[in-house]
Amino acid sequence: MHVSVVLFTSDLRLHDNPPLCAALEAADAVVPLFVRDRAVAAAGFAPPNRSAFLADCLTDLDSCLRDRGGRLVVRSGDVVDEVCRVVAEADADEVHMSAAHSRFAVSREERLRRALEAAGRRLFVHDAVTVAVPPGEVTPASSGHFAVFTPYYRQWARARLRPVLAAPRRVPVPDRVRGEPPPARAGIAGVSPGLPPGGESVGRARVVAYWRRGLDAYDDTRDDLATDATSRLSAHLHFGTLSPVELIHRARRRAGPGADAFVRQLAWRDFHRQVLAARPEAAHADYRTRHDRWRTERTAAEDIEAWRQGRTGYPLIDAAMRQLRHEGWMHNRARLPAASFLTKTLYVDWRIGAAHFLHWLVDGDISNNQLNWQWMAGTGTDTRPNRVLNPVVQAKRYDPDGAYVRRWVPELSGLGAPEVHEPWTLPAPLRAALDYPEPVVELAEGLHRFRQARERRL
Ligand code: FAD
Repeated sequence: MHVSVVLFTSDLRLHDNPPLCAALEAADAVVPLFVRDRAVAAAGFAPPNRSAFLADCLTDLDSCLRDRGGRLVVRSGDVVDEVCRVVAEADADEVHMSAAHSRFAVSREERLRRALEAAGRRLFVHDAVTVAVPPGEVTPASSGHFAVFTPYYRQWARARLRPVLAAPRRVPVPDRVRGEPPPARAGIAGVSPGLPPGGESVGRARVVAYWRRGLDAYDDTRDDLATDATSRLSAHLHFGTLSPVELIHRARRRAGPGADAFVRQLAWRDFHRQVLAARPEAAHADYRTRHDRWRTERTAAEDIEAWRQGRTGYPLIDAAMRQLRHEGWMHNRARLPAASFLTKTLYVDWRIGAAHFLHWLVDGDISNNQLNWQWMAGTGTDTRPNRVLNPVVQAKRYDPDGAYVRRWVPELSGLGAPEVHEPWTLPAPLRAALDYPEPVVELAEGLHRFRQARERRL
């Protein structure tokens, strides 16, 4: 009997899963394997919210496999060691997995390839699983990767997508390979109270609901903070419980301005991935340095803590930061001013903000998070690196009635617009009764500091 192993990583689904389909095609039985990688936890990539979502994903994957006559084999340890052990126990000929593009994942894949080859087994790595258009597939004439989104998107939109693969009907798994039960969300401390459930089943249900009620209006509503009408599929895309290729095919079939705008947003994932694949150091170092001498934990501890806690005195920023803690997610229209405020108004190192987001975000992803932070800090791919988002202007534009702020900042729930966005304009006795902080910095002062810093370094 021929056995192959499919190593699940960021592709925790049965639908449209090329490594799983290839493994099934190559053998009479497969071992669907997930390794809880100790190196991932040690590197701090497994904070509570993502660990809890992952636990849901693994439980759901196991249950979907059981519906098909199989099960998920979960092991803990070093990925390379565990895969080699499972290959030996199952007497498997080959291993299939999806391609990853971070420095960490690429080096892990290389180690695995060498170890398997030394044991006379083969590793097959499948692309277009976690992204729609893999890094390197569309490139500019002059260099290896695109540094600007719009020309990238023009080529990306013309790239041919592979067809969507059906979920297998049966997944025969050999008895002889043992595993541990999938982890449970219940045992994980520090999880956001409003964290949504994970797993392919809820992800697919969310797509159906969004296609029914949200997608067509996406272009009109996606910037409206109070309506909260974006897809909220980011965590599913991060863990691969949904396939980007399948979503794009489905959206293109739907057509219309909502679907087109949605597909364009999905292209940002691939854009950032190809930047990081070409410049892996951009996860931690400026993609384009502006020679900033940022304020840091040592020089701006109180400002940083006020930002983290949602107590800056700027209602939109505080609402955003509190939503992040409560839900493990933040609306994109709030992420932008929250990041601009930290890096430009407070002139704090973008890495400090990126680390805080990575700790809380359920969709926290090295390429999307770090490169969006760099974009906002003006050290990344934004063509207007010195633009500063004014949190009051942003609040009035994207939360005109103040409903988003009132939802997350209950101290201000009795105020109407525009006072809810500018509580400092209230008479002093009313302000004192609010129990809400005064602004940590005047906007004009912050702007002046930032402009001076950037001009000095030109
Ligand atoms: P929708 O508006 O419904 O968009 C659909 C999908 O498109 C998203 O699920 C996401 O996969 C993708 N997408 C949309 N906007 C972007 C973008 N700017 N960059 C990359 N992909 C995008 N997104 C993450 O997935 N992980 C992160 O860690 C992350 N960190 C961010 C940090 C900052 C400072 C900023 C400004 C943005 C960040 N984003 C990140 C991008 C974006 O905010 C989220 O993808 C989006 O808010 C997720 O909500 P949604 O699924 O409802 O998005």
